[in-house]
Amino acid sequence: MKKANDRAPAHPGDPANLSVEERVTHLLSRMTLEEKIDQLHQSGVGDTNPNNLQLREDEFRPTYGSFILNGPPDVRLRNELQRRAVNESRLGIPAIFGADVIHGYRAIYPIPLAQACAWDPDLMRHACAMAAAMAKAEGVDWTFAPMVDHCVDPRWGRIAETFGESPYASSVFAVASVEGYQTGPERIVACLKHFAGYGASEGGRDYSVTEISAQRLEEMHLPPFAAGVAAGADTVMSAFNDLNGVPASANPGLLTNVLRERWKFDGMVVSDWNSVLQLIQQGFAADEGEATAQALTAGVDLDMADGLYRRHLPALVSSGRISTSVIDEAVRRVLRVKFRQGLFERPFAEPTTAIDGPLTSAQLNLCEEFAVRSIVLLKNTGVLPLAENVGAIALIGPLANDGAALLGSWAQQGRPEETCTLLDGLRERLTGHQLVEFTPGCDIESADRGGFASARALALRSEVTVLCLGESAAMSGENASRSTLRLPGVQEDLALEILATGRPVVLVLISGRPLEVTRLESAAAILAAWQPGTRGGTAIAELLLGRQEPSGRLAVAWPRTTGQIPVYHQMRPRARAGREGAYQDIETTPLFEFGHGLSYTRFECGPIVLSRPATNPDTDLIADVTVTNRGDRPGRETVHWFIRDPVASVSRPLKELKKFEQSLILPGETHTFRFEIRPLRDLSFPNDRGERLLEPGAFFLFAGTQRVEFILTS
Ligand code: BGC
Repeated sequence: MKKANDRAPAHPGDPANLSVEERVTHLLSRMTLEEKIDQLHQSGVGDTNPNNLQLREDEFRPTYGSFILNGPPDVRLRNELQRRAVNESRLGIPAIFGADVIHGYRAIYPIPLAQACAWDPDLMRHACAMAAAMAKAEGVDWTFAPMVDHCVDPRWGRIAETFGESPYASSVFAVASVEGYQTGPERIVACLKHFAGYGASEGGRDYSVTEISAQRLEEMHLPPFAAGVAAGADTVMSAFNDLNGVPASANPGLLTNVLRERWKFDGMVVSDWNSVLQLIQQGFAADEGEATAQALTAGVDLDMADGLYRRHLPALVSSGRISTSVIDEAVRRVLRVKFRQGLFERPFAEPTTAIDGPLTSAQLNLCEEFAVRSIVLLKNTGVLPLAENVGAIALIGPLANDGAALLGSWAQQGRPEETCTLLDGLRERLTGHQLVEFTPGCDIESADRGGFASARALALRSEVTVLCLGESAAMSGENASRSTLRLPGVQEDLALEILATGRPVVLVLISGRPLEVTRLESAAAILAAWQPGTRGGTAIAELLLGRQEPSGRLAVAWPRTTGQIPVYHQMRPRARAGREGAYQDIETTPLFEFGHGLSYTRFECGPIVLSRPATNPDTDLIADVTVTNRGDRPGRETVHWFIRDPVASVSRPLKELKKFEQSLILPGETHTFRFEIRPLRDLSFPNDRGERLLEPGAFFLFAGTQRVEFILTS
């Protein structure tokens, strides 16, 4: 085996001073049809995703375009495959190695839904850049992230991977992630997924059909992809779902008309795992050959996993069903991404021992900071932060000492054994009479109530109980939809037993989605910790003890009951207001609104001050709002600016997020938050063809507890 930093063989005629396009054209002109078709194939290596397990033959041809690194990191295997690609194929074209680096790489950050609750794009950008550096050291050239699907149904397991319910926020986070992964010396290629509409999976079931009007697609589903493309994302993944009857992976309207013609995307589209083959199951293609032709002509360049392109394109070309120009175009896009990534110059991963040693303090600190910032204090009657002199603390619950659960889904390079659980976090920080006693009380899922009595006894002999409940890692993510948001197993019953002691209970929820807590409202405090990653337990402990300030704010509305789904802030108005028409057995609002989150300090929001009462399409309007910290602790506040257009040619949402900003405010200090409203950007809306409409009239602007009205003249 050659040394890992070997260069790819020089390609005569493509010296470095040629442009990427010239190099691509030159290389393409020398390729045989078979070599081209192989470039369009992506094969899995060491697959440990249980959803993707299957037998594959012929996995390692040196001419294959790409491999997915799914198993435990194996940089030597990766470099060996690459050595064969560059040294044992006729043209020496390097393969591109992809992996699901979704929320960190070994150093695992909170899940994306939680990251969004930190409302800090800079922190996200930084975290993505650090994950990119770690992944790149192990030979990952390309991550299948960020996922920017729009979802308002927490039954869908993959809501954990979204950036929440606001298309605007998802767009901001899409840009931050793409920049984090793709900018800087340790760049890896980003992939916007899953294009498009996957998050509207019917009933929250995974892989289901989606029925999305053109108007809703333009308003809710496409904006984060458009933003990510504009930020320079080099790849896009086509989705599994059937969109209004046409599967996304064979959908020319999406992949060609919107993505390439409208947005001028010139990167590569990869199918999702087996999504070309699945066209048959979806009732769209009669056989593998037809599925292949449909996907390629719609605009899928690289075929992930199923091998259909490799097996069927030769015959489709010889029969004339597929022209070589279509193949050339797809190969061109694959090669373009490889040249841009510098793979021809640096095909090999530099072996590093860093990944085998302990995580560095910079990595751990970032995990901890992100976890602290993403956790949302939903409720607090005053029990938190736990007083300095609080007596014995009981720690109860099946999630209190489960490292794997804290990592969440898509954390395959993370290590549960080096994850700090809540038990670890509290024990590290408490001594003497506060020393925590722990009992799980029950399992996550089983019906066994055998631990209830000892849990109750522990609660009774303690001053306060921290009750840590929720979901295992496998209960959210892909193929992990649930019919209910209720706590799994007998956890709710355990909670009711502990609450019945009358002692104060702090409920800490570990989950990939909002959970039903309506029946647990007598808890003195509720903390949504999500799946907070490698330093999750430390972060929760720091927040409980008041050594850190809670500042997370919900990026998704928290329903009262499963039956209330969907409930989200940008709903359109119903035909009757108030309670009329709403569910008569519950309140109309979610239990916790989008943007909700408490602090240990108290913020006071001043009135919104506008630079003028009316504006026109060409003149910006400036809105200021002050927030004063009236408490005695520092705190980080996020102001969400919403617009409502009460009368329009297409009825507009009750509230639409248009900007957010965060600031650390010291006790007694006031910060002025500003929104420069640019009418065309902030007051217009798309029609069902994506054209922006700007209609004069009255608008409402909301920030914090405040609301003002202004006029847009023509
Ligand atoms: C998932 C994708 C993922 C891919 C590769 C699929 O099953 O839907 O999100 O990137 O597998 O692991």
